[in-house]
Amino acid sequence: MSQRIKIKALLESEQTGIEVVVKGWIRTFRNNQFIALNDGSTNNNIQVVVDFENTDPNLLKRLTTGAAISVVGELVPSLGKGQKVEVKAKSIEVLGDSDPEKYPLQPKKHSLEFLREIAHLRFRTNTFGAVFRVRNTLAYAIHRFFNDRGFVYLHTPIITASDAEGAGETFHVTNFDLLSIPKTDSGEVNYKDDFFGRATNLTVSGQLEGELGAMALSDIYTFGPTFRAENSNTTRHLAEFWMIEPEMAFYDLEDNMNLAEEMLKYLIGEALKHNADDIEFLSQRLADEEKQKPQHERSEMSLTEKLQFCLDNDFQRLTYTEAIDILKESTPNKKKKFQYPVEGWGTDLQSEHERYLVEKHFKKPVILTDYPKQIKAFYMRQNDDGKTVRAMDILFPGIGEIIGGSQREERLEKLEQRMDEMGVPKEELWWYLDTRRFGTCQHAGFGLGFERMVQFVTGMGNIRDVIPFPRFPKNAEF
Ligand code: ATP
Ligand code: MN
Repeated sequence: MSQRIKIKALLESEQTGIEVVVKGWIRTFRNNQFIALNDGSTNNNIQVVVDFENTDPNLLKRLTTGAAISVVGELVPSLGKGQKVEVKAKSIEVLGDSDPEKYPLQPKKHSLEFLREIAHLRFRTNTFGAVFRVRNTLAYAIHRFFNDRGFVYLHTPIITASDAEGAGETFHVTNFDLLSIPKTDSGEVNYKDDFFGRATNLTVSGQLEGELGAMALSDIYTFGPTFRAENSNTTRHLAEFWMIEPEMAFYDLEDNMNLAEEMLKYLIGEALKHNADDIEFLSQRLADEEKQKPQHERSEMSLTEKLQFCLDNDFQRLTYTEAIDILKESTPNKKKKFQYPVEGWGTDLQSEHERYLVEKHFKKPVILTDYPKQIKAFYMRQNDDGKTVRAMDILFPGIGEIIGGSQREERLEKLEQRMDEMGVPKEELWWYLDTRRFGTCQHAGFGLGFERMVQFVTGMGNIRDVIPFPRFPKNAEF
């Protein structure tokens, strides 16, 4: 018997009149005659035509939404609209039944919130099929981008004793019996008795270890899970997310920005090239969703146009100080429309400010540089003005911050002085400081939140809908 062919290949087939084997899950079965079959290889279904007069009625009854079937039939030109070919079934075998009374996915539109509760089945919808195929393309493209440029993929640890950002939003890793935790004489937790003999946590960033690699291999990148116990129930934060963190020796901030912009454009281009059908579908989905909104809240561009626009235009680069001036003078600030008014220099930008710059003022992606040192991490290179550091944040429409990065402080004395000022324990980071002791050099890097990138390319509004099984406060189902 001939081999199974995936539906994507079948639909692209130029040859008809051949016998094919196709397997998949039934989306719908109309008029006892037309099966819409999907196997996840594409957003499009193949139509399987059933000769119902010559088919066992007991078999027909089992052709329900969600059932897995195998079909042997002839690939023929389709008379119906919307598809070139269809399969005229010769024999159908039900591989796995699906009780239509109990199957949670009905052939109708379900809300994204409902689908999140049945995340184990939501892969079977058009929307999530498209999202996860795009996610796959982006993941693969990241590896290709860096490998084509001679970067080494470095696996930094997931369990670590350092909290890179010093933000303290970590998940502890312990082997203690929580009901009888060993204590020291002074009543503190005695980590000496724990598995690693010290306090450990899940990593919040692979950057510090990444820098160690760059100080020998020149260009490295990480691509792995990161964990933050931040109790933020936003549409852009997860407790477990994937991050891409390149670190490059001999790069300054300018080189860093150039690489980041080139990478983001490459990723968008790859998705448009390999997932045209999926993005077209997601673009339509978003347009339909926006029809529910008042006119002035709708996007001026469709998803596809927005992606193309990002590809075709240079990102706007300016300093934090310049951005503050623009924000201070902006209409929403003067009319007191911002929840957090922009008054002085030195505070962090809120997402309403970032979105104003990107969506209203410049109407394109923005790279902000040279932030006040007090709102950035200890490892960022200090500018001569004594007030700012060589940081960069890349802000995207609808997303806000998608990348955070900087040129790193390579001067030992400056770095130690900043660690002292910020209360970062030097003894614990002796290995990090060693790179500044032995053969230090200018270097830079950044972190891209993978899910935020998937959100941008798919147009999905909630970050929980672009990772298969989202982790967020009070939720770790599946
Ligand atoms: P934000 O201000 O949005 O919380 P951050 O300043 O904490 O971001 P970084 O520590 O610079 O972010 O992390 C680098 C990148 O990782 C960010 O630009 C963002 O794309 C992504 N990121 C950060 N926190 C999360 C999270 N909780 N869930 C998903 N992605 C995240
Ligand atoms: Mn954060």
